[in-house]
Amino acid sequence: EESEKIGKIENRILVFVRLRPMGKKEKEAGSRCCVKIVNRREVYLTEFASENDYLRLNRLRGRHFTFDASFPDSATQQEVYSTTTSELVEAVLQGRNGSVFCYGATGAGKTYTMLGTMENPGVMVLAIKDLFSKIRQRSFDGNHEVHLSYLEVYNETVRDLLSPGRPLVLREDKQGIVAAGLTQYRAYSTDEVMALLQQGNQNRTTEPTRVNETSSRSHAILQVVVEYRVRDGAMNVINRVGKLSLIDLAGSERALATDQRTVRSLEGANINRSLLALSSCINALVEGKKHIPYRNSKLTQLLKDSLGGTCNTVMIANISPSHLSFGETQNTLHWADRAK
Ligand code: ADP
Ligand code: MG
Repeated sequence: EESEKIGKIENRILVFVRLRPMGKKEKEAGSRCCVKIVNRREVYLTEFASENDYLRLNRLRGRHFTFDASFPDSATQQEVYSTTTSELVEAVLQGRNGSVFCYGATGAGKTYTMLGTMENPGVMVLAIKDLFSKIRQRSFDGNHEVHLSYLEVYNETVRDLLSPGRPLVLREDKQGIVAAGLTQYRAYSTDEVMALLQQGNQNRTTEPTRVNETSSRSHAILQVVVEYRVRDGAMNVINRVGKLSLIDLAGSERALATDQRTVRSLEGANINRSLLALSSCINALVEGKKHIPYRNSKLTQLLKDSLGGTCNTVMIANISPSHLSFGETQNTLHWADRAK
C-alpha cells in the first residue's frame, strides 16, 4: 500500500505553501496580517488587513489560491516534513530519485523550513532521521549505505559546503552530471547530521557588507544518496541507488538597488538565471513538454536526474504574513500556482 501512495504522486509536482509567524521587527513596524490559511489547503491574500476586513472583503477584493496543502503559522516542523517529504524518503528506499525545494523571498522562512534550529530541526534533518529509522525497520538492514553531499550554487559557481575551497567543475559521465571532487560524507546516524549541516550552512557565501548573513543569492543543495543491495527472483544481487535532493533556494525577490548596484545586478542576473532556469524546467514539466531545458543553469544541471521523469518533485513556497511583504507574497503565490 506504501507503493500505491507513492504511485499517486508520480509524475507531477506537489505544491505546498507555508506561512510563517509574524516577526518581531514586522510587529514593531506596524505590520498587519494580509494572509489567511483556510482548511489547511487554501490561501487568501488580501491588501485589506484587519480581521473585520477579511470577513467583509476577502471574497470580493482578495485573491484565493488552492494548493496540495497550506500550512498556517502554527504548523510544526514535523507536520511540514510528514506532509511534504516523508513519502519521498520511502521512494528513495525503493531506488527512486526525488527533490524538495523551498522557494520564496528572503526572510520568508526557507532556511527555517529546510534546516531549522537545534530545538526545531527542519526537513533536511527530519528526512535523514526518518531515513535511518526506516532502514532500521527493514529486515535487510546492514546493506544500506547513506552518503551526504551539501553544495552551494552562488553566482553560477558550484562549491562544496562540507569542504570549502575551490569551485567544483561539473562533468558529464555515464551516471549523469557530477560535481568533480564533491565530498560524499558517509553517515551512520542522525546525531552527527545537524551539526554537519549547520557547519555547512556557515560555509555558504555571505555578502561582503553583511558577513554574518547568508547571501540571499545562494542556493544550498543537500543530496542524500542511499545505496543498497537486493536479490531479484533469480537470487542475483542487484545494486539500487535512490537520491533525495533538498534545496534551500536563493531569495526570489529582485535584486535591490544599492551602492553596490553593478556587482549586485550582475549577481542578480545569475541568480535569476538559475531561478529562471528552474522555473522554465518546472513549467515545461507541468505542461508535459518533451524537451526540458536543464542545460540553462548550474542548478538545473545538478538536478537533472532528480527533477521530472519518474522523480517525485515537491515545492514548498514560503511566505510572510506581513502586509509589508504583500508584493513578494503575491509573486510567490503566483509562481507556486503555476507550478501545480
Ligand atoms: P529565508 O531563509 O527564507 O531568508 P529564514 O528561514 O531565515 O528565511 O526566516 C527568517 C526568520 O523568520 C528567521 O529568524 C527564522 O527563524 C524565522 N522563522 C521562519 N519561519 C519560521 C517558523 N515557521 N516559525 C518560527 N520562526 C520562523
Ligand atoms: Mg535563508
